[in-house]
Amino acid sequence: MAQFDLILLGPPGAGKGTQASRIVEDYSIPHISTGDMLRAALKNQTAMGLEAKRYMDAGELVPDSVVIGIVKDRLQESDTAAGFLLDGFPRTIPQAEALDDSLASIERGVSKALAILVDEDELVRRLTGRRICRDCQVPFHMVFSPPAEEGVCDKCGGELYQRDDDSESTVRNRLAVYSQQTEPLIAYYDRQGVLARIDGEQSPEQVYAHLKEAIGRP
Ligand code: ADP
Ligand code: ADP
Ligand code: ZN
Repeated sequence: MAQFDLILLGPPGAGKGTQASRIVEDYSIPHISTGDMLRAALKNQTAMGLEAKRYMDAGELVPDSVVIGIVKDRLQESDTAAGFLLDGFPRTIPQAEALDDSLASIERGVSKALAILVDEDELVRRLTGRRICRDCQVPFHMVFSPPAEEGVCDKCGGELYQRDDDSESTVRNRLAVYSQQTEPLIAYYDRQGVLARIDGEQSPEQVYAHLKEAIGRP
């Protein structure tokens, strides 16, 4: 059976992390989030994490060579044998080409690129109200999806925090970086015939139903 090599595309705040936790539970594939991996490297004070921090704080992209290295290493792990869900990678054309090359070298390829699309004003509302679990990284929102108990993760009881880069000024820059460097990937995957566009301005449940339809496997 062909693998299940999925990519989640879309601007910051579109709901990729929210939907990723549902997809990986249902389809039993690993969730590979470059943002989560970079934040973990920073927390562990690795040289790479410290280098990445200045880009992340400014809302700029970490250099391609760094993130491509992280993802290639991660894809070597055995839990990706049946497939994976990439979230937040690729974010540039060179990253997409590097991914295509490494998958092609093991006779695999992207099965679906799922683009979740949301308008800019809504993205700003989502990002500035976002809170993340320190332990399991699941996102909540103070207004749109508040946890049952304030400041506490519903899933694992972990502490919720606000990311430094979710301030309004950094958010605006991240959205500009998205339109310049990442949005062209929508056309890239469309040309490959693997793109699905999903309207992200619906409830998380409705978005998930459309994602499942697009994935097209039970
Ligand atoms: P991304 O990973 O694409 O940056 P997240 O999944 O972290 O996005 O979602 C950004 C914020 O928007 C979070 O606070 C999340 O709780 C909230 N959110 C996610 N999906 C929806 C939705 N369909 N409607 C309203 N808010 C949402
Ligand atoms: P969001 O989806 O909310 O924008 P992420 O957690 O995916 O946030 O990414 C946070 C930051 O990590 C980005 O602003 C960027 O600095 C860095 N980053 C994550 N993934 C990549 C990537 N594939 N290429 C370059 N930088 C990345
Ligand atoms: Zn948690």
